[in-house]
Amino acid sequence: MTVADVTKQTERVIVRAHGGGGEMMARLIQDHILAALGNRTLNELTDGAVLSTTTSRLVFTTDSFVVAPLEFPGGDIGRLAVCGTINDLAVMGGRPIGLSLGMIIEEGFELSSLDRILNSVADAATEAGVPVVTGDTKVIEHGIGGTGLFLNTAGVAELDDAVHLGFSRIQPGDAVLVNGTLGDHGMAVLSVRNGIEFQTILKSDAAPLNGLIAEVLAAGVDVRFMRDPTRGGLAGVLADISANAGLGVEIEEDRVPVNTAVRAAAEMLGFDVLTVANEGKVVLVVPDKDRERCLGVMRRHRYGRRSANIGRIVTGDPPLVELITRTGGRRIVQRPYGEELPRIC
Ligand code: MG
Repeated sequence: MTVADVTKQTERVIVRAHGGGGEMMARLIQDHILAALGNRTLNELTDGAVLSTTTSRLVFTTDSFVVAPLEFPGGDIGRLAVCGTINDLAVMGGRPIGLSLGMIIEEGFELSSLDRILNSVADAATEAGVPVVTGDTKVIEHGIGGTGLFLNTAGVAELDDAVHLGFSRIQPGDAVLVNGTLGDHGMAVLSVRNGIEFQTILKSDAAPLNGLIAEVLAAGVDVRFMRDPTRGGLAGVLADISANAGLGVEIEEDRVPVNTAVRAAAEMLGFDVLTVANEGKVVLVVPDKDRERCLGVMRRHRYGRRSANIGRIVTGDPPLVELITRTGGRRIVQRPYGEELPRIC
Protein backbone atom coordinates (compact mmCIF):
# COMPACT_ATOMS: atom_id res chain seq x y z
CA MET A 1 0.00 0.00 0.00
CA THR A 2 1.14 3.52 -0.73
CA VAL A 3 1.02 6.29 1.86
CA ALA A 4 -2.06 7.65 0.05
CA ASP A 5 -3.82 4.27 0.39
CA VAL A 6 -3.08 4.13 4.11
CA THR A 7 -4.38 7.67 4.54
CA LYS A 8 -7.58 6.77 2.68
CA GLN A 9 -8.02 3.67 4.82
CA THR A 10 -7.68 5.60 8.09
CA GLU A 11 -10.52 7.82 6.91
CA ARG A 12 -12.88 4.83 6.51
CA VAL A 13 -12.16 2.41 9.33
CA ILE A 14 -10.78 2.43 12.85
CA VAL A 15 -7.05 1.79 12.99
CA ARG A 16 -5.01 1.18 16.12
CA ALA A 17 -3.63 4.72 16.03
CA HIS A 18 -7.18 5.95 16.77
CA GLY A 19 -6.64 4.63 20.31
CA GLY A 20 -3.10 5.85 20.87
CA GLY A 21 -3.79 9.05 22.76
CA GLY A 22 -2.31 11.26 20.04
CA GLU A 23 -3.50 13.49 17.23
CA MET A 24 -5.45 10.69 15.49
CA MET A 25 -7.40 9.95 18.67
CA ALA A 26 -8.08 13.65 19.24
CA ARG A 27 -9.64 13.78 15.75
CA LEU A 28 -11.75 10.68 16.37
CA ILE A 29 -13.07 12.28 19.55
CA GLN A 30 -13.80 15.65 17.89
CA ASP A 31 -15.19 14.53 14.52
CA HIS A 32 -17.13 11.45 15.59
CA ILE A 33 -17.73 11.14 19.34
CA LEU A 34 -18.35 14.81 20.16
CA ALA A 35 -20.13 15.29 16.83
CA ALA A 36 -22.69 12.71 17.96
CA LEU A 37 -22.75 13.17 21.74
CA GLY A 38 -21.24 16.57 22.51
CA ASN A 39 -22.65 18.63 25.37
CA ARG A 40 -21.26 21.27 27.69
CA THR A 41 -19.89 18.78 30.20
CA LEU A 42 -18.49 16.24 27.72
CA ASN A 43 -16.97 18.93 25.50
CA GLU A 44 -14.61 19.93 28.33
CA LEU A 45 -12.66 16.69 27.66
CA THR A 46 -11.33 16.68 31.20
CA ASP A 47 -10.25 13.52 33.06
CA GLY A 48 -13.68 13.29 34.65
CA ALA A 49 -17.05 15.09 34.42
CA VAL A 50 -18.10 17.49 37.17
CA LEU A 51 -21.78 16.92 37.97
CA SER A 52 -23.65 19.34 40.24
CA THR A 53 -26.55 18.27 42.41
CA THR A 54 -28.58 20.73 44.44
CA THR A 55 -26.35 20.14 47.46
CA SER A 56 -22.93 19.06 46.17
CA ARG A 57 -20.57 18.51 43.26
CA LEU A 58 -19.43 15.08 42.11
CA VAL A 59 -16.75 13.91 39.66
CA PHE A 60 -17.63 10.94 37.46
CA THR A 61 -15.29 9.06 35.13
CA THR A 62 -14.80 5.76 33.29
CA ASP A 63 -11.86 3.94 31.75
CA SER A 64 -11.33 0.64 29.91
CA PHE A 65 -8.21 -1.52 30.19
CA VAL A 66 -6.88 -3.75 27.41
CA VAL A 67 -3.19 -3.96 28.37
CA ALA A 68 -1.10 -6.79 26.92
CA PRO A 69 0.37 -8.72 28.65
CA LEU A 70 -2.04 -8.77 31.62
CA GLU A 71 0.81 -8.94 34.14
CA PHE A 72 4.07 -6.99 34.04
CA PRO A 73 6.74 -5.86 36.54
CA GLY A 74 5.19 -3.40 38.99
CA GLY A 75 1.58 -4.28 38.31
CA ASP A 76 -1.12 -5.94 36.27
CA ILE A 77 -4.41 -5.05 34.56
CA GLY A 78 -6.22 -5.12 37.92
CA ARG A 79 -3.95 -2.58 39.60
CA LEU A 80 -4.05 -0.42 36.47
CA ALA A 81 -7.86 -0.48 36.37
CA VAL A 82 -8.11 0.78 39.94
CA CYS A 83 -5.29 3.34 39.73
CA GLY A 84 -6.32 4.71 36.34
CA THR A 85 -9.82 5.61 37.43
CA ILE A 86 -8.80 6.84 40.89
CA ASN A 87 -6.17 9.08 39.33
CA ASP A 88 -8.63 10.53 36.81
CA LEU A 89 -10.93 11.44 39.72
CA ALA A 90 -8.09 12.76 41.89
CA VAL A 91 -6.60 15.03 39.20
CA MET A 92 -10.03 16.67 38.94
CA GLY A 93 -9.61 17.54 42.63
CA GLY A 94 -12.13 14.90 43.72
CA ARG A 95 -12.09 12.59 46.73
CA PRO A 96 -12.93 9.16 45.24
CA ILE A 97 -15.70 7.32 47.13
CA GLY A 98 -16.56 4.27 45.00
CA LEU A 99 -15.62 2.26 41.92
CA SER A 100 -17.36 -0.11 39.55
CA LEU A 101 -15.59 -3.05 37.94
CA GLY A 102 -16.79 -4.42 34.60
CA MET A 103 -15.11 -7.55 33.24
CA ILE A 104 -15.23 -9.01 29.73
CA ILE A 105 -13.68 -12.47 29.93
CA GLU A 106 -13.01 -14.96 27.14
CA GLU A 107 -14.12 -18.54 27.68
CA GLY A 108 -11.11 -20.68 28.57
CA PHE A 109 -9.53 -17.99 30.75
CA GLU A 110 -7.79 -19.60 33.75
CA LEU A 111 -9.63 -19.02 37.04
CA SER A 112 -6.29 -18.90 38.86
CA SER A 113 -5.26 -15.92 36.68
CA LEU A 114 -8.60 -14.25 37.31
CA ASP A 115 -8.13 -14.71 41.06
CA ARG A 116 -4.66 -13.15 40.95
CA ILE A 117 -6.01 -10.14 39.07
CA LEU A 118 -9.04 -9.79 41.39
CA ASN A 119 -6.70 -9.88 44.40
CA SER A 120 -4.64 -7.17 42.77
CA VAL A 121 -7.82 -5.09 42.28
CA ALA A 122 -8.60 -5.63 45.97
CA ASP A 123 -5.08 -4.65 47.10
CA ALA A 124 -5.04 -1.46 45.04
CA ALA A 125 -8.57 -0.51 46.17
CA THR A 126 -7.61 -1.09 49.81
CA GLU A 127 -4.43 0.94 49.42
CA ALA A 128 -6.40 3.81 47.90
CA GLY A 129 -9.17 3.48 50.49
CA VAL A 130 -11.83 3.29 47.78
CA PRO A 131 -14.12 0.22 47.60
CA VAL A 132 -15.40 -1.54 44.48
CA VAL A 133 -19.16 -1.14 45.06
CA THR A 134 -20.75 -2.45 41.87
CA GLY A 135 -19.78 -4.50 38.85
CA ASP A 136 -20.65 -6.55 35.81
CA THR A 137 -19.29 -9.74 34.22
CA LYS A 138 -19.65 -10.88 30.60
CA VAL A 139 -18.13 -13.98 29.03
CA ILE A 140 -17.47 -14.03 25.28
CA GLU A 141 -16.30 -16.67 22.83
CA HIS A 142 -12.63 -17.49 22.56
CA GLY A 143 -10.38 -15.70 20.10
CA ILE A 144 -11.09 -12.03 20.65
CA GLY A 145 -8.44 -9.80 22.06
CA GLY A 146 -5.57 -12.21 22.61
CA THR A 147 -5.14 -11.72 26.35
CA GLY A 148 -8.55 -13.11 27.36
CA LEU A 149 -9.57 -10.25 29.65
CA PHE A 150 -10.71 -6.65 29.33
CA LEU A 151 -11.65 -4.53 32.35
CA ASN A 152 -13.63 -1.33 32.74
CA THR A 153 -13.76 0.78 35.87
CA ALA A 154 -15.92 3.79 36.54
CA GLY A 155 -15.65 5.96 39.62
CA VAL A 156 -17.36 8.69 41.58
CA ALA A 157 -15.71 11.33 43.76
CA GLU A 158 -16.87 14.15 46.00
CA LEU A 159 -15.61 17.58 44.97
CA ASP A 160 -14.94 20.09 47.72
CA ASP A 161 -16.46 23.57 47.21
CA ALA A 162 -13.05 25.18 47.59
CA VAL A 163 -11.48 23.26 44.66
CA HIS A 164 -11.47 25.08 41.32
CA LEU A 165 -9.24 23.65 38.64
CA GLY A 166 -9.16 24.30 34.93
CA PHE A 167 -7.15 25.37 31.92
CA SER A 168 -8.63 28.87 32.27
CA ARG A 169 -6.92 29.33 35.65
CA ILE A 170 -3.40 28.80 34.24
CA GLN A 171 -1.25 31.99 34.22
CA PRO A 172 2.11 32.93 32.70
CA GLY A 173 4.78 32.46 35.38
CA ASP A 174 3.08 29.41 36.94
CA ALA A 175 5.34 26.46 37.76
CA VAL A 176 4.94 23.01 36.17
CA LEU A 177 5.59 20.16 38.62
CA VAL A 178 5.63 16.38 38.34
CA ASN A 179 5.71 13.82 41.20
CA GLY A 180 8.56 11.65 39.90
CA THR A 181 10.23 9.77 37.08
CA LEU A 182 8.61 9.59 33.64
CA GLY A 183 8.15 6.72 31.20
CA ASP A 184 8.34 3.84 33.72
CA HIS A 185 4.99 2.23 32.90
CA GLY A 186 5.28 2.29 29.12
CA MET A 187 8.83 1.01 29.05
CA ALA A 188 8.06 -1.75 31.61
CA VAL A 189 5.16 -3.12 29.54
CA LEU A 190 7.11 -2.82 26.34
CA SER A 191 10.13 -4.63 27.74
CA VAL A 192 8.13 -7.72 28.81
CA ARG A 193 6.00 -7.71 25.68
CA ASN A 194 9.01 -7.84 23.43
CA GLY A 195 11.01 -10.11 25.71
CA ILE A 196 13.70 -7.48 25.87
CA GLU A 197 15.98 -7.83 28.87
CA PHE A 198 17.66 -4.84 30.36
CA GLN A 199 20.27 -4.97 33.10
CA THR A 200 17.79 -3.40 35.50
CA ILE A 201 14.20 -4.63 35.61
CA LEU A 202 11.95 -1.83 34.43
CA LYS A 203 8.96 -1.51 36.75
CA SER A 204 5.61 0.14 36.10
CA ASP A 205 4.85 3.12 38.33
CA ALA A 206 1.12 2.18 38.59
CA ALA A 207 -0.08 3.78 41.83
CA PRO A 208 -3.15 5.50 43.27
CA LEU A 209 -2.45 9.22 43.68
CA ASN A 210 -5.55 10.29 45.61
CA GLY A 211 -3.58 10.38 48.88
CA LEU A 212 -0.75 12.54 47.54
CA ILE A 213 -3.14 14.92 45.78
CA ALA A 214 -5.36 15.23 48.89
CA GLU A 215 -2.29 16.26 50.91
CA VAL A 216 -1.35 18.93 48.35
CA LEU A 217 -4.88 20.36 48.41
CA ALA A 218 -5.09 20.15 52.24
CA ALA A 219 -1.84 22.14 52.47
CA GLY A 220 -3.65 25.04 50.79
CA VAL A 221 -1.62 24.98 47.55
CA ASP A 222 -3.65 26.97 45.00
CA VAL A 223 -3.45 24.24 42.32
CA ARG A 224 -4.56 25.66 38.95
CA PHE A 225 -4.66 22.44 36.94
CA MET A 226 -3.70 18.76 37.18
CA ARG A 227 -3.63 15.87 34.73
CA ASP A 228 -2.18 12.36 34.78
CA PRO A 229 0.25 11.81 31.88
CA THR A 230 -1.01 8.40 30.70
CA ARG A 231 -1.19 7.65 26.95
CA GLY A 232 0.64 10.41 25.10
CA GLY A 233 2.86 10.96 28.13
CA LEU A 234 4.10 14.32 29.40
CA ALA A 235 4.18 15.62 25.81
CA GLY A 236 0.44 14.99 25.41
CA VAL A 237 -0.45 16.76 28.67
CA LEU A 238 1.72 19.79 27.91
CA ALA A 239 0.23 20.03 24.39
CA ASP A 240 -3.27 20.02 25.94
CA ILE A 241 -2.27 22.71 28.44
CA SER A 242 -0.76 24.90 25.73
CA ALA A 243 -3.69 24.49 23.32
CA ASN A 244 -6.43 24.97 25.90
CA ALA A 245 -4.81 27.76 27.95
CA GLY A 246 -3.46 29.53 24.85
CA LEU A 247 -0.08 29.81 26.59
CA GLY A 248 3.40 28.40 26.03
CA VAL A 249 5.17 25.87 28.22
CA GLU A 250 8.94 25.71 28.74
CA ILE A 251 10.43 22.51 30.12
CA GLU A 252 14.06 22.05 31.11
CA GLU A 253 15.44 18.69 30.02
CA ASP A 254 17.86 18.32 32.93
CA ARG A 255 15.05 18.84 35.45
CA VAL A 256 12.75 16.15 34.02
CA PRO A 257 13.25 13.06 36.22
CA VAL A 258 13.85 9.87 34.22
CA ASN A 259 15.27 6.60 35.58
CA THR A 260 18.60 5.75 33.96
CA ALA A 261 17.38 2.33 32.78
CA VAL A 262 14.20 3.83 31.31
CA ARG A 263 16.21 6.47 29.48
CA ALA A 264 18.55 3.80 28.08
CA ALA A 265 15.65 1.55 27.02
CA ALA A 266 13.78 4.42 25.37
CA GLU A 267 16.86 5.53 23.47
CA MET A 268 17.64 1.99 22.38
CA LEU A 269 14.10 1.37 21.13
CA GLY A 270 13.69 4.80 19.57
CA PHE A 271 11.06 6.26 21.88
CA ASP A 272 10.91 9.84 23.10
CA VAL A 273 10.46 9.31 26.84
CA LEU A 274 8.30 12.45 27.01
CA THR A 275 5.61 10.63 24.98
CA VAL A 276 5.71 7.35 26.95
CA ALA A 277 2.77 6.45 29.23
CA ASN A 278 2.81 6.73 33.04
CA GLU A 279 0.26 5.29 35.48
CA GLY A 280 1.35 6.83 38.78
CA LYS A 281 2.24 10.36 37.79
CA VAL A 282 0.53 13.72 37.96
CA VAL A 283 1.49 16.98 36.26
CA LEU A 284 0.52 20.01 38.38
CA VAL A 285 0.40 23.68 37.43
CA VAL A 286 0.73 25.89 40.53
CA PRO A 287 1.46 29.58 41.16
CA ASP A 288 5.21 30.12 41.46
CA LYS A 289 4.77 31.36 45.05
CA ASP A 290 3.30 27.95 46.03
CA ARG A 291 5.94 25.91 44.17
CA GLU A 292 8.33 25.00 47.01
CA ARG A 293 5.55 24.32 49.52
CA CYS A 294 3.86 22.02 47.01
CA LEU A 295 7.11 20.16 46.25
CA GLY A 296 7.74 19.78 50.00
CA VAL A 297 4.34 18.16 50.56
CA MET A 298 4.77 15.89 47.52
CA ARG A 299 8.29 14.76 48.48
CA ARG A 300 7.08 13.65 51.91
CA HIS A 301 4.64 11.21 50.23
CA ARG A 302 5.81 7.75 49.13
CA TYR A 303 4.65 8.44 45.56
CA GLY A 304 6.33 11.84 45.39
CA ARG A 305 9.92 11.31 46.57
CA ARG A 306 11.39 12.43 43.25
CA SER A 307 9.00 15.34 42.66
CA ALA A 308 10.47 18.09 40.54
CA ASN A 309 9.78 21.53 39.16
CA ILE A 310 10.29 20.82 35.46
CA GLY A 311 9.41 24.15 33.89
CA ARG A 312 7.02 27.07 33.64
CA ILE A 313 4.09 28.59 31.78
CA VAL A 314 5.06 31.42 29.43
CA THR A 315 3.36 33.76 27.00
CA GLY A 316 3.97 32.92 23.36
CA ASP A 317 2.57 33.69 19.95
CA PRO A 318 1.91 31.08 18.75
CA PRO A 319 1.85 29.20 22.06
CA LEU A 320 4.36 26.33 21.91
CA VAL A 321 5.68 23.61 24.15
CA GLU A 322 9.47 23.89 24.15
CA LEU A 323 12.15 21.74 25.71
CA ILE A 324 15.32 23.55 26.74
CA THR A 325 17.98 20.89 26.17
CA ARG A 326 21.00 20.17 28.35
CA THR A 327 23.19 22.09 25.93
CA GLY A 328 20.87 25.12 26.06
CA GLY A 329 19.21 24.49 22.68
CA ARG A 330 15.44 24.58 22.17
CA ARG A 331 13.29 21.86 20.68
CA ILE A 332 9.56 22.00 20.06
CA VAL A 333 7.72 19.19 21.87
CA GLN A 334 4.94 17.77 19.69
CA ARG A 335 1.93 15.80 20.75
CA PRO A 336 2.48 12.23 19.51
CA TYR A 337 0.54 11.61 16.29
CA GLY A 338 -0.93 8.13 16.56
CA GLU A 339 0.06 4.92 18.15
CA GLU A 340 3.31 5.12 20.04
CA LEU A 341 2.66 1.99 22.08
CA PRO A 342 -0.44 -0.13 21.46
CA ARG A 343 -2.38 -1.68 24.38
CA ILE A 344 -0.33 -0.01 27.04
CA CYS A 345 -3.23 0.43 29.48
MG1 MG B 1 -6.41 11.04 32.71
